[in-house]
Amino acid sequence: MSGTEIRFVTPGRLLNPAGGFLEGYTHTLNPYAGCAFGCSYCYVRRMPVGLFRGRNWGEWIDVKRVNLEAFRKEWRRSRERTVMTVFMGSATDPYQPVEARYGITRALLEAMAEMPPDFLLLQTRSPLVVRDRELLRRFGGRLRVSLTIETDLESVRRRFTPKAPPVAARWRALRTLLDAGIDVQIAVSPLLPHSESFAVELVRAAPRIVVDDFFHGDGACGKRTEALGIRAMYEQAGEGELYHPETARRFFRELRLRAEPHGSTVLWSREGFLPP
Ligand code: SF4
Repeated sequence: MSGTEIRFVTPGRLLNPAGGFLEGYTHTLNPYAGCAFGCSYCYVRRMPVGLFRGRNWGEWIDVKRVNLEAFRKEWRRSRERTVMTVFMGSATDPYQPVEARYGITRALLEAMAEMPPDFLLLQTRSPLVVRDRELLRRFGGRLRVSLTIETDLESVRRRFTPKAPPVAARWRALRTLLDAGIDVQIAVSPLLPHSESFAVELVRAAPRIVVDDFFHGDGACGKRTEALGIRAMYEQAGEGELYHPETARRFFRELRLRAEPHGSTVLWSREGFLPP
């Protein structure tokens, strides 16, 4: 994390109302602001938090100092009043490297496990999530880990997300979580250039897969992704024809056909991220 500016902040509240792409959830919960993975296509780059910090996205992190007693109260108040479906995190990765040191995600999960929500989706691309597998089991069927694996090619991963965890480590994390009996899906989100065997690998590895792309999943019909220059990254690699809405739709259809005999679930875009 050298070169990453780390600040400590005291947030007013941690639970925020969900909306937009995450309609269907009551709340979002982000243990950090900023994200050291700094993925090239991250749509948060185009949101106010990503645009107006004065530093590049991926080069700063705010660690939210959590007053656990206050959070427990905030949590209980909401929990007693209403159905709670929580998306964690919508604008950060809850298991980015800084979590190994400060444990904000773990502390929040421990507090929530005392009175579990109706549903919690834990969205990450980090193998660090396996550290908390025993804790995650305490949520029973009310939690799903959504683990991003957008390509099976390490060279492509390095090109688009050089600071994110290697692909092999994510496959291993998936197996560990499944062995621990945790509900986990692979989020192929957004689909990146991949090998011919990616669909087969996915179907063999995971009981539930969601596919998304730059045109549906960035919350702005592809406009945010276009502004980030992702099209040029495809063109520079001679893969310009793959930057097209039909690419992921085709992959999705192939995946569905291959998944059928295995009884796996394959979902498209937002549908795959919604609470049950
Ligand atoms: S891990 Fe998620 S939040 Fe972090 S930079 Fe990548 S896409 Fe953005």
